[in-house]
This record gives sequence, C-alpha cells and structure tokens, in this order.
Amino acid sequence: MLVQICITVLTTVLLAMAALYSEGANEQRWWALGNVVSSVGLAMSSLESGPAVLHAVLGYGVLALGMGLVLRGLRQFCDATLGWRWIGAIVAGALLSALFFTYVVPSANWRLSATGFYFALMNFLCAATLARQADWRAVSAAVAGFVTLGLALGVRGVYLLQHGQDEQRALLVQGVVMLIVPLAQVSIAFGLILMVMRRYAERLRNLSWVDSLTGALNRAGLEAQGRRVAQRTLRAGRSLSVIMLDADHFKDINDTWGHPVGDAVLRHLTRQIKAELRPLDLLARYGGEEFVMLLDGVNRDDALRVAERLRARVEAEPVEVAGHTVRYTASMGVVCSDQHGYDMLELIVAGDAAMYAAKRAGRNRVMAG
Ligand code: GH3
Ligand code: MG
Ligand code: MG
Repeated sequence: MLVQICITVLTTVLLAMAALYSEGANEQRWWALGNVVSSVGLAMSSLESGPAVLHAVLGYGVLALGMGLVLRGLRQFCDATLGWRWIGAIVAGALLSALFFTYVVPSANWRLSATGFYFALMNFLCAATLARQADWRAVSAAVAGFVTLGLALGVRGVYLLQHGQDEQRALLVQGVVMLIVPLAQVSIAFGLILMVMRRYAERLRNLSWVDSLTGALNRAGLEAQGRRVAQRTLRAGRSLSVIMLDADHFKDINDTWGHPVGDAVLRHLTRQIKAELRPLDLLARYGGEEFVMLLDGVNRDDALRVAERLRARVEAEPVEVAGHTVRYTASMGVVCSDQHGYDMLELIVAGDAAMYAAKRAGRNRVMAG
C-alpha cells in the first residue's frame, strides 16, 4: 500500500509538471487533480483502524471522485466533456454500494468485490473513451493501463467472491493485484503525458505549415503535403492538376489603399479560392500574392473550368474593407500531370509559365500550360 501511494504521488507530480509545461492543456489539470483525490481515497479506504464510515464508505466515494475527475479530463481530451452531475452520479454509485455492504448486508468481502467491479467498470469506461480516438498509437499506452487496471480489479473481485479474503489463493491474487495496480498506474500516467505531448507536437507542426495571414498552407506545408498528394494520385492512377494564381496589379492595390487593405484582399482571395475547391484539394500561398492549388483526380479540361469559375467569381465580387469597395482580378496558369508528370517542381514551373503567359495576354484570364 505504501509503494502504491508513493507511485500515485509520483505519477501525480509527473502529470502536474507536464500540465505546467504544456500550458493550456486543461485536461492535464483534471488528471493531476484526479490522481491526488484518488490517492487520498485509496489511503482513506486502507485505514482500517478508523471508523467504518471513513474507510468503508467515504474512502470509496473520494476514490470515485478522483476517477470521475480523470474521466472528465479524458473526455476533454476527446473534445467532449463530463458534467458535474455525472461525476456526482459516479460518486453516489460508489457510496451507495459501499453503504449497502457496510450497513445493510455487512460483508467486507462483498464490499471489496462490489467496489472492485465498480472501479473496474470505471477504468474500462476510461479506456473506451480513449479507444474511440482515431489515433490509436497515441492512446495505446494509456488504454492498456486502464484495461489492465480494470482487469486486475475485476479478477480480484471474482476471487474474493469465490474464495473469501483469508484463503491462501485469494491472498496470492491480492498480492498480484497489488503489484499490477501501481504498474498500470505508471503506464496510465506515461500514456496520458504521451497523448498530450503528441497532440502538442502535431499542433506545432500544423502551425509551422500554415501561413498566418491567410490560413492557407505555406511553402513548407506545400512541400510536405504536396508531395503526399502527388504520390497518392500517382499510385491511384488519377490525374493531378495544378493551378498557379497571381493577383493582378496587386502593387497598385497596396499603393492606393495601403498594406492593411492589401492584406484584407489576400484573405478575401483565399476565401474565394477555397469556395471553389473540394476538401481533398490543397491550397498554398506560394509567395506574396501568388497561390498554388493542387486538384486531386482532376484532368486539365476540368481544372480549366474550375480556374475559369474562380476567375469570374473574383472579378464579380469585390471586397468591402474599411469602408472601401476594392475590385481586383487574378491571372491563372493551369497544368496537369497528364502532360507534365507528377513531379511537383516541374508542375509548378510549367504552371508559372502558363500564368505569366496569361499576364502577358492582358491579365484577368486563365491559360493552359
Ligand atoms: P502583376 O499583375 O504583374 O502581378 O502585378 P503585381 O503588382 O501584382 O505584381 P508585383 O510582383 O509587382 O507586386 C506584388 C506585390 O504584392 C508587391 C508586394 O508589396 C505585395 N505583397 C506581397 N506580399 C504581401 C502581403 O503579405 N501583404 C500585402 N498587403 N502585400 C503584399
Ligand atoms: Mg506576383
Ligand atoms: Mg501580381
């Protein structure tokens, strides 16, 4: 029990430190707090010398509160929540079963089994909450910990029911469970920290791929994701079309209205482009007022139609910014893997050439490479 409590304290410190490190991850605070409360509950329920109401009833209630807080954190990690009413119900369930087997049908064995099953169920609930997450590699350590803890408590409950507390075999089971529980706790704590760190790293990576002004991909994002899209289309034998777009006379917009208006135009242009793309298509800001679109499974003729629709939309819809109505147009070059292959660089070079041909031909138009 001492080792168990020490490990709970250690994992709590670990979770609290991780929560401080990745500020803003609220779920970690619930896990740390849940761990503290659970260890208090565990200590209370093992103080068998005190009054029964303390160790046989309230201890389990506090333990259930701790588990409820952990579950609340897990639900938050999964973009959901667990209301206080549910946590209240979890605590009430533990209190009622402990009360029942202390005062109505007094039996230490039954009480240990019933609360064991109850907490096993809670652990399975925690595992199930996480297992529904798509990224199973990130959650597997924590899920394994919760399942192991649940199984250990369940097996102990069954043995206590069958053999009573004093039999040799039940003692052995009790010992094994006492060994497994802290190990599972360590696995859970590390698993929870891994989950948050992985999500943190993913968020940072996504941030480093996104252009902060427009929300489109930046060059790094284009390089990373564009190659993936090219490989995907090549493998599937689909066409890949690329549209290079450059806003016309953008320097004049800046010179006339100022740079903040130019920025608003870029954001507006991004929204216009996104309105014409499908979810699988990629949009990247290649440079100042130049954008690249990657159209998965689209041949050149269809890409030309998309580009023409976009050109007409940009021409027709001015942007309202700071009380001004700013009209602008864009020129586009369209190329396709059917003519230029799947190499991103070659597609972009060819698309650029087509786009500059559109500029030379008078701007506000679409040219095929
Ligand atoms: P063209 O029709 O030939 O493309 O003419 P243009 O004026 O659009 O082309 P040019 O390359 O001469 O000018 C691009 C301008 O885009 C110059 C630069 O100040 C502006 N620009 C680049 N990035 C940003 C940005 O993030 N915000 C704003 N407001 N302007 C930008
Ligand atoms: Mg340009
Ligand atoms: Mg331009």
